[in-house]
Amino acid sequence: MLFDTHCHFDFAPFVPIETSLVKAQAAGVSKILIPGTKAKGWVTISQLTQLYPQHLWGAYGLHPYFLHEKSASVLVALDKALAERNSNIIAVGECGLDGVVDVPAQLQEAIFVAQIDLAQQHHLPLILHCRKQHQRLFKLLKSSRFEFGGVLHGFSGSVEQVKPFIDLGFKVGIGGVITYPRANKTRQSVARLPVNSLVLETDAPDMPLCGYQGEPNHPAHLPQVLTCLAELRQENPLELAQRLWRNSHEVFHLNG
Ligand SMILES: [Zn+2]
Repeated sequence: MLFDTHCHFDFAPFVPIETSLVKAQAAGVSKILIPGTKAKGWVTISQLTQLYPQHLWGAYGLHPYFLHEKSASVLVALDKALAERNSNIIAVGECGLDGVVDVPAQLQEAIFVAQIDLAQQHHLPLILHCRKQHQRLFKLLKSSRFEFGGVLHGFSGSVEQVKPFIDLGFKVGIGGVITYPRANKTRQSVARLPVNSLVLETDAPDMPLCGYQGEPNHPAHLPQVLTCLAELRQENPLELAQRLWRNSHEVFHLNG
């Protein structure tokens, strides 16, 4: 049994949801966490998690890609949505810093820090998005004295980059990037990360696996990420799967 800890199951390629869910389950992916990206999506995430409470979990947050001048005013709505959340809404995110996207750094930081504070107030873990801003992101987490952990999603890069996050109680989301032979550094790093810090994710419909370029990604591809990870780490895939399943439940405070 596998847990896809980061899948945008509320996006168009997964309609009808029932069919997509059956396909994921047939592949052994029985639980999926849907991260929030913008305010408009929170209602859909709430509805989906209430429709399939055994299989779908969610998070509310503001992704750095979609920020604009009025984003600060949306934070009040985020606080309200979190206060009124159903029991399958288990994290704040995805949120963070993106050093590539054309959104002012100052705006990104302000909205990110506000979301750290909301997660702290609501006693929820964070789902972090980070591109080329690891040191800055870590600094902001640290100075907020954030203590509820979460997942640094979309691992790509070095052990050194993510070690401070692991020490702060975060897990690292491992996805399809590791299936590309050219992702040498990431593949070597993933073999060296502590096993209790790892969780699996597809980030579907984004981040197609090697061999599936140009197609929307699907949570049903998660077993291939597991197989690849087990090979790179030279571990038994079944034992690794059990471990990652436990890690996923632990970080989001779920029974299972
Ligand atoms: Zn994402």
